[in-house]
Amino acid sequence: MGAEQSPGTIRFDPTDCDRMVVHQPGQIQPHGALLVARAADLVVLQASANTRRRLGFDPGDAQGRRLDDLLGHLAAEVLRSFLARESSDVGPRYALDLPPVEGRERLDVTGHARDGLLILEFEEPTAIPPGLGDPYSMVSEAVRGLQSMQGVVEFCQATVEAVRRFTGFDRVIAYRFAADFSGRVIAESRDPGFDSLLDQRFPAGDVPRPAREVMARNWLRLVPDIDYEPVPLIPRDNPLTGRPLDMSYCLLRHASGVCTTYLRNFGTACLMTMPLLRGGELWGMVTCHHRRPRTVPFALRAACELLAQVASLHLASIEDRETMGERLKRSSARDQLLAGLDRSADPSSWPFDAARTLAGYLPSDGLAIRMGERIETVGSTPDEARLADLFRWLDQHDRAGLFARDGLEDVYPEARSFADRACGLLAIDLKPWLPGWLAWFRREQVETVAWAGDPRKPVELGPMGEYLSPRRSFERWVEAVRGKGTPWTTPEVDAARILRESVIDRLRARGQQQDRLLADLSARKEEADSFAYMASHDLKEPLRGIHRYAHFLAERAGTKLDPDERDRLSGLLRLADRMGGLIESLLHLSQIGRLELEIRECDLDTLAAEAAEIAASRVADARAELELGPLPVLSCDRGWLLEVFVNLITNALKYNDSPQKRVQVGHRPPAAAGEPPIVFVRDNGIGIPERHREAVFGMFRRLHGREAYGGGAGAGLAIVRKIVERHGGRIWVEPSPGGGSTFCFTLAPGGLT
Ligand code: ADP
Repeated sequence: MGAEQSPGTIRFDPTDCDRMVVHQPGQIQPHGALLVARAADLVVLQASANTRRRLGFDPGDAQGRRLDDLLGHLAAEVLRSFLARESSDVGPRYALDLPPVEGRERLDVTGHARDGLLILEFEEPTAIPPGLGDPYSMVSEAVRGLQSMQGVVEFCQATVEAVRRFTGFDRVIAYRFAADFSGRVIAESRDPGFDSLLDQRFPAGDVPRPAREVMARNWLRLVPDIDYEPVPLIPRDNPLTGRPLDMSYCLLRHASGVCTTYLRNFGTACLMTMPLLRGGELWGMVTCHHRRPRTVPFALRAACELLAQVASLHLASIEDRETMGERLKRSSARDQLLAGLDRSADPSSWPFDAARTLAGYLPSDGLAIRMGERIETVGSTPDEARLADLFRWLDQHDRAGLFARDGLEDVYPEARSFADRACGLLAIDLKPWLPGWLAWFRREQVETVAWAGDPRKPVELGPMGEYLSPRRSFERWVEAVRGKGTPWTTPEVDAARILRESVIDRLRARGQQQDRLLADLSARKEEADSFAYMASHDLKEPLRGIHRYAHFLAERAGTKLDPDERDRLSGLLRLADRMGGLIESLLHLSQIGRLELEIRECDLDTLAAEAAEIAASRVADARAELELGPLPVLSCDRGWLLEVFVNLITNALKYNDSPQKRVQVGHRPPAAAGEPPIVFVRDNGIGIPERHREAVFGMFRRLHGREAYGGGAGAGLAIVRKIVERHGGRIWVEPSPGGGSTFCFTLAPGGLT
């Protein structure tokens, strides 16, 4: 864009800003004069049109003449040695103090070498206001103050305060660039009568790329009066190159119309700015505004420049210290979380117990936890139904276990329906170790940003239309970030990833430990089974002997015994019978652990019908109401499963006093994908008190007298449990609605044990 036109005639398109040329304006500000000389022989090639007023000769007369003639031999000698010391491509330096002569005031001369040229800038000296002290002590005192600062914001605040103290500007702000070069005012020192800009955001276009590039190369930029008439260079193009002079480093460089209009709309008449660099890159800037035009004495500018340089050097270490502090805080939160995970008996309930700490682990507005079907939230998140949909979508789209988006709706349009509560999402997936997600949300950035001005104030129309007013800037910024949360930073995304990996590591280690325990347990079970098998097998033989002798005695000597002795003998026979029964049960139980299962697909409806027939014929009163099925088809060992049903149905009829006995065999379909169906046998019998509901599955455990309810060895349920567990399932008892017991069991959906 041509920056020379008068502001009123510019047709302005803000998207052009990144293409505009700011370093070759061909004009300067009028508060000084400029000469361009060939470095080799100090012959003047270009001069600003105002040399007559400032230097006492016409620009046309200057061309082709040596500086010795124009400024005097002594000055030229000083400039020659200045050039000998000066390397090319660095910013301007104080070159000499030009004494007054006829037709010329005293002048401060600054010079810099570029492309074989010596560029000299002449300004009238202004005195430091009384009472400020000498610039060196001011800077060293300010630097001492900066050294004790802990955080970046505090540090920038101290810097802007020092700059304002030095210069007396109405408002001094520190502006920090984000990764996309939009910016935010993070520190401010101002006259109370001047509007605050603290915390305001500005789109990247407000400081366009070319302006940023020039800024990063100059430690100080001053526009004492934005309402100036620019002064052209004569001739416009440099005769050596045939191109406009590269004025990247010129102090007097003409400011573009865009820049001055923008400043005017800020209510400022004067601007001074210094870059804050980190590792040579533009990190931010210190900007000074004043209501009225003003000039800043050279020595004070030098002091500010030095301060900006020291601040830039210091910035990296302050920022690193701050990020280190953040990192330490996060790592101690992580330790706390992992310790909680280690202590928790059930890892899938751990995130719910640790919800508060998890929520604070990343800077966010809300956290949602999903484990299986359970969802819980902290702070501002979508509602549960929308979360369930979102997690389903994440399940389908997750590849890497981590999902981070500033604007979720860009990829998930349904997010628009909860844009008022959550816009940015950072989620980690813990599958298969834990069945779900941890998700941090950020609300729309616009909602969380403080706008210091009055948002209802109408847009001020500057000479360039509605663009380039602070209010417009805010609106353009809002347009740019609509539907987005504050961007997730790399350290935040890394912290989420590290948390995910550490949790998974812990769970993996825990899984391995459990596998070892299980292997150990199953080895012990096997041992116990073979012991029970051998013991019961070996006991059978002597027991058979006892039985045989007792029987023999009863037959042969029965008549010789008195009735008392006969009773004792038949008692012996009964006990031997009973012991035989117990040994049989034990043998049977040990066999379940030892024998191979024959797994096939079985229609449980057929199996239950068969079992009901067997059970009913065994139970004296078979006039029970039996409701069978429907039941699923499952993979199992048919013989063993038949025994499960026979046992459960027999018990349901046996432990039942109801005049109308009712038994229902049915199933509940899986609660969630991947879970097994629950098969149950429900009766309206005597029920089981809660405290015995686990004990009834113990071997030889009966809740009643030996002969009550038709007697029994107390082995049936132990056998049933063993069969179910060998199928990788679980069995438990619940009370039936309206009284009685409901025995429920599952078989493993996948592998069997
Ligand atoms: P048994 O029937 O041989 O005593 P079980 O192992 O089958 O042995 O049952 C253990 C105990 O559990 C029974 O003695 C009884 O007290 C209780 N029990 C089992 N099934 C039922 C049921 N359906 N209703 C009430 N109590 C039951």
